[in-house]
Amino acid sequence: RVAAIGLASWDRFLVLDRSPRPGSYAIVTHREEQSGGTTSNLCAALCRLGVSVTLAAAVGDDAEGQILLQDLAAEGCDVRHVRVKQGIPTDACFILVAPGEDGTDRTILWEQGARLQLGDPLPIDELFQHDLVVVDVDDPKLRQFLVDLPAHVAPRTQMIGPLVYLTELQPEQGLRLALQHDVIVGNDDELCYLAGTDQLDVAIERLRALMPLHVTRLAAISRGAEGCVIVTRRDITPVPAFEVPVVDTTGAGDAFAAGIVYGLLRRWEPARLGQFANAMGALAVRALGARAGLPTLPEVEAFIAA
Ligand code: ADP
Repeated sequence: RVAAIGLASWDRFLVLDRSPRPGSYAIVTHREEQSGGTTSNLCAALCRLGVSVTLAAAVGDDAEGQILLQDLAAEGCDVRHVRVKQGIPTDACFILVAPGEDGTDRTILWEQGARLQLGDPLPIDELFQHDLVVVDVDDPKLRQFLVDLPAHVAPRTQMIGPLVYLTELQPEQGLRLALQHDVIVGNDDELCYLAGTDQLDVAIERLRALMPLHVTRLAAISRGAEGCVIVTRRDITPVPAFEVPVVDTTGAGDAFAAGIVYGLLRRWEPARLGQFANAMGALAVRALGARAGLPTLPEVEAFIAA
């Protein structure tokens, strides 16, 4: 069983005819709203794969928060630890999707609301009873508090740390925090930022050199249409992507992370782990929004076999 601590947000998509440049305009060709947020997307993806998952997050006491909770519950996610904060709106992401060089360009404008922060009471003992805990909070102090816990609370709990919010920190500080998770998941840009280089090879070597000195035993680095690289203390395993038509890349990283979590539960070796996560990402980019393209386990298996 898996617990995830992080973000639920309400996604408002605007599909544009071109990438808007500052001082210019673009035409909105389609708009849509739906449940989203990195951590709740990851939970939805795990539920579709048949994994039992509980989410700790916070929403506001508004209609969006209610729909988010209902959608997650309908996926089969345990939402008992999603707090409803009074008088604060649910986080909203305004997502601009426009034609881009390699498919689509995406820009996210994040209106922060009821998200988790240090000071929010969390059912720590219950959450850290799970085998895997995904720690995906944007508040660096809360993140540090949570990564410090297992040694005292649950020494056998595996901590999975997405890199996305760590890029808000100075590179060295972010990298140090990243290396306090057993497994890290992120994309190539995030890793390069944290490693202080624009060359992915250099960043990966730097990461691998640091891993034996820290907690981290595996890093899954996604590379969009290039697939991913799985880094362990011993090997660097590049895994090619699947070729698919791209509609919207929102949620590709979340689906990829869910694939990694699933593979960790199954104790797969790097090549199989990367292949499964790439398949999850490829299926997610085929539809608008973070949830529409999410597959069931038989669908991913059939996709990989095809
Ligand atoms: P993020 O959205 O976090 O930057 P990526 O863009 O790296 O994440 O996408 C995550 C994964 O989704 C990739 O590793 C890849 O497996 C899959 N993916 C993303 N974009 C494409 C694409 N254009 N074609 C095929 N697979 C893709």
